[in-house]
Amino acid sequence: MIRTGVTICAPATSGGGAIAIIRISGPESISISEKIFSPSDNELSINSLPGYTVVYGDIIEGSETIDDVLLTLFRSPHSYTGEDSIEISCHASSYIQRRILELLVKNGAKPAFPGEFTQRAFLNGKMDLSQAEAVADVIASASEASHRIAMSQMRGGFSSEIKKLRSDLLQFASMIELELDFGEEDVEFADRKELKELILKVKSISDSLASSFKVGNAIKNGIPVVIVGKPNSGKSTLLNALLMEEKAIVSEIPGTTRDIIEDTINIDEIEYRFIDTAGLHDTFDIIESLGIKKTHEKIIQASVVMLIDEAIDSIIDINTRVKNIRHIIEGLDKKLMIIINKSDLAGDDLLDDLRNNIDVKSGEELLFISAKNKTGLEILHKKLSEVVDKGMLSSDSVIINNIRHYDALINISGSLERVIAGFDVNLPEDLIAIDIRQAIHYLGEITGEITSDDILSNIFRNFCIGK
Ligand code: GDP
Repeated sequence: MIRTGVTICAPATSGGGAIAIIRISGPESISISEKIFSPSDNELSINSLPGYTVVYGDIIEGSETIDDVLLTLFRSPHSYTGEDSIEISCHASSYIQRRILELLVKNGAKPAFPGEFTQRAFLNGKMDLSQAEAVADVIASASEASHRIAMSQMRGGFSSEIKKLRSDLLQFASMIELELDFGEEDVEFADRKELKELILKVKSISDSLASSFKVGNAIKNGIPVVIVGKPNSGKSTLLNALLMEEKAIVSEIPGTTRDIIEDTINIDEIEYRFIDTAGLHDTFDIIESLGIKKTHEKIIQASVVMLIDEAIDSIIDINTRVKNIRHIIEGLDKKLMIIINKSDLAGDDLLDDLRNNIDVKSGEELLFISAKNKTGLEILHKKLSEVVDKGMLSSDSVIINNIRHYDALINISGSLERVIAGFDVNLPEDLIAIDIRQAIHYLGEITGEITSDDILSNIFRNFCIGK
């Protein structure tokens, strides 16, 4: 919901620490703050101060002093939201924060919705939509790579390029439409050669951005991995072996508690998330009956499927299970790793036999490990890390990590492909213009030049309050 003319308030910091910040934004920010703030210098009136001023004083209600605080004043348009804004730095007691917020509301401010400050920043032209979306990513960034991608996007990353391409396309579309207005007269305002070049350029840029999504998404959300295999093949032992090294590292870092506790490991800045490992025994014991929906679903959710078998299993059985899994993931972009566990129980001849007779297709991996003795885990790590093409990370190329942008880019490429095909078969200009207009629409969706209340509320709903 977009509220105009309303002054909003919310805590901008999240628990812990000694200081908290309460943020106020909107036309009455200063007048409302004046009512609850008593500057230590009695002569001062915050209403007469310029922006970027910090004032020391008390938050008061009647004769009661609630806290001594620093108040920072921002004047429109030079604030995060573009509106008059105040930030109150108070002591981080949740009681104090609640009292200050109650006072603000009593005096006319409204509690902010999630993301409402950033939504206002977007609506007031302080940033475009893809930059606004990146704000949430910057806050959530937990690794060097995710931080770098989010920062680059927040600073305008690829959106300035998208805007430029969009305005170039727009110019051509208008010229073609103008030609159409001339009807019978054979005029040509839009240079066809230039137009084709531009179309190819936009398509190649959107294709390459779209192709970066796989890496971007992996960096942002981690790679879902599922471990499947018959009972007692060693799934839990393997998972524990993988996690053990990780837990030792993670537990040393304070404040890494997560909302949802998942089993994860980090390899080269990428997080690998083991799906529903709590159900390892229950859920995946039924691998023999692959028709069971739940197993299916878990496999479908994963990007990497680790099938665990034992070195002492029969090759026929192993190949049957491999075939069953392959059947489920056929045509989907998933990596199958066939992991032969308990290789400590097998002699070299047996291992050679397995190596030569297990049916491994190109793109799949066959690995021999002993989860119990922790052998073969290094190569497993290496193979996991190769799932993500990290070449892109070391270059300066732009990486997108947002599914909304990815969808828009795919749509842009689709529209432009139709434009190119249209040129090839000399399709009438008015039909070509429709596809160009569509590409322009999708380009505008990325930056927010084209948007709807629905899109906006969807995006900002996922923000935290106070941002
Ligand atoms: P799950 O049912 O697939 O989770 O299997 P578990 O991890 O519970 O392991 C079943 C049994 O196999 C346990 O007794 C483990 O100690 C044993 N086991 C697991 N991995 C290995 C291994 O690499 N070598 C040997 N010899 N035993 C293993």
